[in-house]
Parts: sequence; C-alpha cells; structure tokens
Amino acid sequence: MQLIHQLEADAGFERSEIAEVGLSIRRDAAGVLALAPAERPHPDDVARVVPFAEHGVRRAALIAAPGIRDLLLGGRRPLDVQVLAERDEIALGGARLYFTARVPLVVTRCEDDASCGVCGEGVRGCDAVTCTHCSAVTHAGALLDGEERDCFAHRGCCPGCGLARGDFEWLPEIEPGECGRGDGGRG
Ligand SMILES: [Zn+2]
Ligand SMILES: [Zn+2]
Repeated sequence: MQLIHQLEADAGFERSEIAEVGLSIRRDAAGVLALAPAERPHPDDVARVVPFAEHGVRRAALIAAPGIRDLLLGGRRPLDVQVLAERDEIALGGARLYFTARVPLVVTRCEDDASCGVCGEGVRGCDAVTCTHCSAVTHAGALLDGEERDCFAHRGCCPGCGLARGDFEWLPEIEPGECGRGDGGRG
C-alpha cells in the first residue's frame, strides 16, 4: 500500500491510499485538487498516480495529463511518466501533495503461513506486523499458544528493510501560515 498526503485548508494533511487501479488527481472549478481511485483517465485529470511492482518492490509512477503546464514534481516540470521517489512533492498552483510508500505499521493477528524475519518461527495465529515497505512479517505480541514474543521491539526495526517504527509515521510539515488555522501547536 502506498499513500498520497494532501494538505487540506483547515485539516492539516489528509491521507489517501493509492488504489490498485490508480489514483486520479483532479482539479475542480475552484482550483482545489481532489483525489479519487480511477481505472482510466478522466477529462478533469491533472495527473494520475499508478502503482506497479518492480522486482517485487511496490512503486508508483506519476503520469501527467497532456497540456498541464503548472504541475511540478519536486519543484520541476515532470516527465510525461515519472517514477515517484519517497516523499516526492507534487505541486499544482497552491496545492501540495506528498507521495510516501511508508504506511504506519499495525499489529494484526496473522493468517499467513509466513515466518518471522527475526526468530524464523511461524507467525500464523500470532500477533504480528507486516512491513508496509518490504512485506517482511515479524512477531509483535501474543503467540498462538498465548505466550508473548515481540520480535519487532526486540530488533528495534524491520528485519527486512531496517526501517524503525517511527520511519513509517512520517508526515509532511506544514509551513507557518499555510494551513487555515495554523498548526503551530500553540495559540
Ligand atoms: Zn519472531
Ligand atoms: Zn520492512
């Protein structure tokens, strides 16, 4: 799963999942960007974000609609089709979007016949995290027999890609005055 973070006037950043079919970036009459899952291009599209897999690694590409002149990727005019990098900024007029493949980790009861990347034992029926970046599975709580084993906390990071829990919780920063009510944390 991959996400686009979108700055909303009064709400800080909202996250949208990039659907398997792709995500349309559209502009309404007021110039506000709307994100919607879409299988094929729409006349109002400014661009589309389309996920793909490269040697098993999940990635996404930005496909700009023809004739869109004010679309910027990392401050530059993008190619017609451009592979997105982690935390890439997509800007259009005053709107900003950020791409990330790092989705916060959640502990779930694992239903797969996978092996823990730290201890090597099975995770079926155990509490585990599945890395949203590399798909490695790691024990993170109760085992099938009721014992506790938190391999993720023990290792301190994902055994597959080495990212720590905090690395998955990245949010873009709101610049002063950019958000309607501000987000300075005081007032
Ligand atoms: Zn384990
Ligand atoms: Zn990982």
